[in-house]
Amino acid sequence: MKLNKVMLLVAGSLASCFIQTSSLFAAEVNVYSARQEELIKPLLDKFTAETGIKVNLITGNADELITRINSEGRNSPADLLITTDVGRLARAKQQGAIQAVESETLTSVIPAHLRDPAGVWYGLTVRARPIMYVEGKVDPAELSTMEALTDPKWKGKICVRSSSNIYNQSHVAAMIANDGAEAAESWAKGLVANFARPPQGGDRDQIRAAAAGVCDIALANTYYLGAMLADPKEQAQAAKIKVFWPNQDGHGVHINVAGAGVATFAPNKTNAVKLLEYMVQPEAQRWYAEVNHEYPIRTDVAISSILEGFGTFKADDLALEQLGELNAEAIRVLDRSGWR
Ligand code: FE
Repeated sequence: MKLNKVMLLVAGSLASCFIQTSSLFAAEVNVYSARQEELIKPLLDKFTAETGIKVNLITGNADELITRINSEGRNSPADLLITTDVGRLARAKQQGAIQAVESETLTSVIPAHLRDPAGVWYGLTVRARPIMYVEGKVDPAELSTMEALTDPKWKGKICVRSSSNIYNQSHVAAMIANDGAEAAESWAKGLVANFARPPQGGDRDQIRAAAAGVCDIALANTYYLGAMLADPKEQAQAAKIKVFWPNQDGHGVHINVAGAGVATFAPNKTNAVKLLEYMVQPEAQRWYAEVNHEYPIRTDVAISSILEGFGTFKADDLALEQLGELNAEAIRVLDRSGWR
């Protein structure tokens, strides 16, 4: 009798053990990502291997994913939204697609100016938007600040993409925050006057155009040049382009983040936070930043050798949250400046 009771207890605890194990395997997190699958999937696979939490990945255009989360509403399976540029993260917040989460790991690892003060979005990697110039055509001693690119000596020499793009909007938002709306508008007008051609293509196309002799200066995010330097097909063109870090005696170069936020109706909120916390661990940071040619969000992780080649720089420590708040004003400034 007694022995039977013990056996039952053992059987019972084995059963509960089994249930716990099977629920562990059933654990999952649904990621809506605006990043290309190959630039994130291996990291998610490692997360699954280490935690047992299965990751279901949906990739797509950032604005479409935000709209999708909102139209799915309470029934949305989305747990985590991953996207680039604080302008988009702020838009996701304003539209109610992502919610505040608390995590000591995230607040201790991610510098305060690179995350939402309310904890709605968190920066995961950093990109800068410096001046890129054709070596041999531009003497870097002639360059100084982003503001100085309005000098008539650069007439017909500058390539930059359309103002409908979020990168330019966030850049101008930073200028409004630093110099005021009036100064930002006269800068934009002066820059337009120096355009080599009407804006066309993406950031990478501006670098290609500079390498091809269309312009001497291109404005583009650092990771595009990094990716071109790592691509055997584009290496030779990219090698003609050098990075100049503007505003080093002042507020520093404009930076932005790629980041993430937990979806408002996340069915697996705890797992979404676990994944966010995993993404800021040193090893994950090194891998994720390196494959994306971005700077890690934490300063104790080494940067890639390609980025090392760009040299060190002083980054603007403006609270990125302000760029989201100033986005609408930035669009108005860009419209008035004639930057199409
Ligand atoms: Fe981009």
